[in-house]
Amino acid sequence: MIFPADLIKALRQAQRATALTGAGVSQESGLRTFRDAQDGLWAQYRPEDLATPQAFQRNPKMVWDWYAWRREKVSQAKPNPAHYALVELAKQIPNFTLITQNVDGLHQAAGSPLVIELHGNIHRVRCSVCGLIHSRWDQGGDAVPRCKVCNGLLRPDVVWFGENLPQAELEAAFEAARTCELFFSIGTSGVVQPAASLAYLAQQQGARIVEINAEPTPLTSFADFALQGKAGQILPALVKATFFHESST
Ligand code: NAD
Ligand code: ZN
Repeated sequence: MIFPADLIKALRQAQRATALTGAGVSQESGLRTFRDAQDGLWAQYRPEDLATPQAFQRNPKMVWDWYAWRREKVSQAKPNPAHYALVELAKQIPNFTLITQNVDGLHQAAGSPLVIELHGNIHRVRCSVCGLIHSRWDQGGDAVPRCKVCNGLLRPDVVWFGENLPQAELEAAFEAARTCELFFSIGTSGVVQPAASLAYLAQQQGARIVEINAEPTPLTSFADFALQGKAGQILPALVKATFFHESST
């Protein structure tokens, strides 16, 4: 794989870089993106109709069961070369911030030290009434488990469509976008706000944008470097060409 010399140079010189990842980074781990149709039992449903507070209000059991099914799939998945390449980037670049929209925990499983989770994590659940995080819950029986403290229904600790993002994470993400020299947008369709605006903010503040995506997105024409293809192939090749290749540039 041949990369623009400008990109290699910028990456070697970068003191601060930020990466935003989306569902595409986990696609090669066997996890479907929201834009793929679902398989199996849930093929007839759209994620947009299940991942909402309204859906949970209407039918908590159905939403709980869908997340239990997704959690099971995520538990079987392993990090792929894209996740590992991001661990390497964090080692090579003095200040590297990783922001993800994924809820699957695969960046942490790969060994990324610090991950800003904008949309929560499917492995945690929290009380829908008092907000208490539960790392264990009683899965026995048919009913949705309840909070030990207030008896409220438990729900996955993820951000649903129409909900606000966690404030501290959002602020950290904006700060990392504002202050970086290089901003990577990887495997994200760039249509889910406010994450989608991070790249533009970074660019306004002088950062160069590197997009890695299997398909063109709304960001592609703004990107300084648009690398089209699979993240699990492009990212490791880019890391190798930049940091493990003997050349004088
Ligand atoms: P998205 O489904 O909207 O877009 C996925 C993007 O990844 C697309 O642009 C697609 O072209 C690209 N892509 C697919 N395979 C790729 C690959 N191998 N390499 C590079 N790019 C690839 O996902 P999104 O932008 O993350 O936003 C949708 C929301 O869905 C997010 O809020 C996220 O929380 C949630 N989600 C998370 C997971 C997960 O945790 N694994 C899975 C599905 C959806
Ligand atoms: Zn509670």
